[in-house]
This record gives sequence, C-alpha cells and structure tokens, in this order.
Amino acid sequence: MKKIIKVHPSDNVAIIATKSGINKNSPIEGGVTAKNNIPFNQKIALENLAKNQAIIRYGVPIGYAKESIQQGEWVNENSMYIHKTIPLTREIANQLKYENHYRFKDSPNVQTDTFQGYLNADGTVGTKNILAINVTVQCVKGVVDQAIEQIRKEILPKYPNVDDVVQLNHVYGCGVAIHADNAEIPKRTIRNLADNPNFGNEKLVVALGCEKFIPEDAFQVTAEDSENLVVLQECNGYAEMIDEIIYKAEQILKHLNKRSRQTLPVSNLIIGLQCGGSDAFSGMTANPAIGYAADLFVQQGAKVMFSEVTEVRDAAEILLKRIRTTELRMKLIQELTWYDNYLAHSHVDRAENPSPGNKKGGLSTIIEKAMGSIAKSGTAEIIDVLSPGEKIKKSGMTYAATPASDFVCGTQQLASGMTLEVFSTGRGTPYNLEQCPVIKVATNTKLAEKWADIIDFDAGTILDHKTTLEEAGKELYRLMIAVASGEIKTKAEQHKIYNDLAIFNPAPIT
Ligand code: CA
Repeated sequence: MKKIIKVHPSDNVAIIATKSGINKNSPIEGGVTAKNNIPFNQKIALENLAKNQAIIRYGVPIGYAKESIQQGEWVNENSMYIHKTIPLTREIANQLKYENHYRFKDSPNVQTDTFQGYLNADGTVGTKNILAINVTVQCVKGVVDQAIEQIRKEILPKYPNVDDVVQLNHVYGCGVAIHADNAEIPKRTIRNLADNPNFGNEKLVVALGCEKFIPEDAFQVTAEDSENLVVLQECNGYAEMIDEIIYKAEQILKHLNKRSRQTLPVSNLIIGLQCGGSDAFSGMTANPAIGYAADLFVQQGAKVMFSEVTEVRDAAEILLKRIRTTELRMKLIQELTWYDNYLAHSHVDRAENPSPGNKKGGLSTIIEKAMGSIAKSGTAEIIDVLSPGEKIKKSGMTYAATPASDFVCGTQQLASGMTLEVFSTGRGTPYNLEQCPVIKVATNTKLAEKWADIIDFDAGTILDHKTTLEEAGKELYRLMIAVASGEIKTKAEQHKIYNDLAIFNPAPIT
C-alpha cells in the first residue's frame, strides 16, 4: 500500500510519503485510487472537491479549488487560488482569547542545563570567539578582504583561542537616503551586528572617510578611539592601509585570545529559528522537532526568536492568541501591517512567497507554507516582538520581524544577538553563517541521505516512525547544546561554506 500522510482529521488532501511517488491507478490508504502519477511530497485529493471549495490541510483552508477536483487527483499550486490578505486591526487584537498550549506549562522553569560558552564583560555570552571587522561602507570591502586573508595566514595562528576573523560586510553606508523613514532599519542592524556576543565586546572599524554613515553614528567610535578605527583616506596608500588594519586587529586578537569557554547556564543562549527551501514535510517533521527543542530552551530560560514575516502572516491569528496583552498584540500587528504595506507599495503581496522550489516540494500556497513554518516556534507564550534588527531583551519566545529571505533573515537575527541558529530545509540548501553556528535539519530522510555531508540532523525519522516528535526534539536539543559548546562542528562549518551577510534596507538608495 502506498503511504500518504494526513495531518488533521478534517483535511481533504494528504501528502504522498512514498519516496518514489505514486503511479496512476495505484490504490492508496483509505480506499483512494490515484488518478495521476503523483511525485513524492505532493498532495492528493481525499474526496471530490467542488469549484471554489476550501482545500483543507493542517485543519485550515490553504487555498480554494479553481475548478472541481476529483478524489485521487494531484492537487498543487495550479489547482487553487488564495484570497487577498485580510487587514489586521485593533478589533482583532481585542477579540481573540489568549490561549496557552505550552507543553511544559506544569513545569515552566527548570534552568538546570549548562553549556560551554564565552562570558563577556557586559554579561552576554558567546558560542564562538571571533574578531569582527566592522565597515561603515562597502567601499572599503576589498581592502578588508586582503587584510583578513593575511591575518588568517600570518597572525591568527599565534592566537589559538580565537576561532576566526570575519568582516561584517554590507552594501549600506553611502549612496543611500540616510534620513529616509526606514533608514533606521539598516542603521540599527549594522550597529547591533557589531555587538553580537560572539565578538567578545571588541570592535575594529574600517571607514573610508567621506561616507554618509560615519563611524561615530555607526559604531560610536571616533578619531580619539584610534586603536579601534582605521580610516583609509588617512592612510598613505594601499600598503599602509593593510599594515594599519593588521596592526590594530592584532591588538584586539591579544584580548580575544584570553577568552576561554566556561560552564554556564543554557539560559545564556540566544537562539534563532529559520527555514529555507521548505517542502510539504517541513510542517510535519523538522519544524515541529525544532519547536519541541525551542520549548525546552524556553523552559531553561534561554532567549529564542523566530522570524520571517511573509511566512507567518497567514498564521497571524494563531500567533496573536499566544500573546497575552493587547499592547504586545498591537506591536505584532504593526510589524505585519508594515510589511503588508511594504509589499503593496510594489503591487505585490505575500503570495510572492512560496518559491518555485517550494512548489516542487509540495507547498502550493503561502498559507500552507505559513502553517508549517510557525511550528518552529513551539508552543510557548510569545513574550516580545522586535522590529527588524532590534536587540533581543527577554527570556522566552520572541517574534523578531525580518524578511523570510534566508541570508537577510539570518543577518537580522545576528543583529538581534543570535549566537546559534537552527535551520530546517526540505529541498536542501548549504546555507551557513560565519558569525555563529547554524545547525541544518532535514525535513525528510531522502534529503538527509543525499546530502549526508551537509545536513546535521534528520527529522525525517519522525515520518518513518523511527522516532517520536519528543525523541527527535530532545535529540536536537542535545545537539544544539553540543554545537553551542564547540564540541561538535556543523557539517557546513567543516567545509567552511558561508553566505554573505545581507542587511535589510527598505529605504531608498540615491
Ligand atoms: Ca527563510
């Protein structure tokens, strides 16, 4: 019998879980016969559906039938349409009843587990020991690249306790409308990136000398702080630029080399959750397992954030119910509405997400993707909402508004203070960051086996009933602690594959 998976009792479609897919006329569970050849992770209709009838998955309408659909037919993005986004209002915020389904609500505070982290002077804790070179403007990037290459080769080996030296590169800083309404987002992001706990409260800044985003505004560094600042236009040629950067970098490396890991409560971790290259299994395996692990970290008092506005927009009511106060609900509504307007300005909406790869992976609409995406956030109360690039403040589950784009979301979460990221993928992506470890979780065993040297954790075992959600969640939790402690290197880290930072700049470029 061919295997299908139905998530909710009221669903009228199910997902093909047989890795080779299903051939036309094959009988499947529940007395349904396939009317088409249907590939792995795509949807099959479990009953006849009339034109305009709701297509139900996760117990909610993920779209509406464009034409009538027969039982056993392949249901995909071509079979359905979605309605326009419903505006979020204060009335909605007031009406919804608070719901608490936190799986550990009978033992909300445990705080017994520890990890090996780097304690900073300001009380924050890092999972890595990195020298970050901040730049005020893209103009200096090539010079900093050369300096870093030389530092890695000749200087870094003298400081074995330092993991790496990285540039916090961006394309902001000049040629931008620095006083525009939304300019605070990129400016705040760049400022807060410099303070990520993995950089040990140290900063080296390289500036050009004539840019708009001056070092004083960007990093509170002035000419008097000459040990932290190199201004290229004040150097006599390229060789002096390189010498200056290397000299000042080495003074900071001496400080960083004195850092060592110590046993600290897990509550000191700042965890970012994300997905990319999602498929129809994301919401059944990897994201719920991440959600379980996230709940365990919340129970331990850690700071955990989830993001990706377009991927939660259609689950707004579910999230609003997890927020206790109207004031905080309005903060979430404000962030989501800001994004609605940002998209509407270019005459598009959240339906621009999903990607072609998501659709091949069986995700037909953004509603279906959103329902799977929010599973990452677990079951805890949402205790805070951040604007893009704001620093995380509270223990527990925070919603940090960011675009869903993988590298933009990752960059914004780093600015919010992230020291460890967990990233689920169904289609597969080598995504990784230099600034903090990223654990990649596959939604299906097919991908985990195909990319065994890139994927860190296979959540597809839940689908095959080899593990329960609870077992997978706990195993992932332990892996996260081992990676945060430096005991296990992620696969992507072993290969040194890294994405660029990509700050979110919704403001005009001049
Ligand atoms: Ca993403």
